[in-house]
Amino acid sequence: MKRGLLIILSGPSGVGKGTVRKELFKDESLNLAYSISMTTRTARPKEIEGVDYFFVSVDEFEDKIKNGELLEYAKFVGNYYGTPQAYVDKLLDEGKNVLLEIEVQGALQVMAKRQDALTIFLVPPSLNELEKRIRGRRTEEESVVQERLAKATKEMATQDEYKYVVCNDNVKSAADKIAHIIKENL
Ligand code: 5GP
Repeated sequence: MKRGLLIILSGPSGVGKGTVRKELFKDESLNLAYSISMTTRTARPKEIEGVDYFFVSVDEFEDKIKNGELLEYAKFVGNYYGTPQAYVDKLLDEGKNVLLEIEVQGALQVMAKRQDALTIFLVPPSLNELEKRIRGRRTEEESVVQERLAKATKEMATQDEYKYVVCNDNVKSAADKIAHIIKENL
């Protein structure tokens, strides 16, 4: 069987990676599988263990790092996030096109290890729009909003490392563009 394509979907926090990813998964012809990440963050009310994330303790996570079980990992706003390598390779061997929805530090690690990965960076229509989205979705203090925005600006600076940059001006059209890119690369 033909091995699947490894796809990295990254972009600054608040750009809407999760929403675009969910839209993309509606297209069954893409034969996608989602790489479920591991995190030390506590689950949000609607999140399900083994669907949204594998929720683990810091000790468990650090053991996985030590044992080389993660394809990449990063610390993001105080929590660890990482991609279990064996799970990704199993899905690729099964012929699935595996999508990693990850932040930029992790994306750069995967690029270094897997040159054949299809890499896509999602950008907001403008930094003003990103600010509106970050403010809109959370009830955070001004200092935290400022911290996230400063982080987003740094994250935006990595976009040249990616094969494709897609603007998330509208969820449906961004997902359509990404679907087209994936099909071109199969
Ligand atoms: P959240 O806490 O909002 O679910 O995720 C925070 C950030 O971590 C998002 O940008 C998300 O894409 C990213 N993320 C989720 N899983 C992983 C992972 O396995 N590795 C890395 N590097 N980032 C991840």
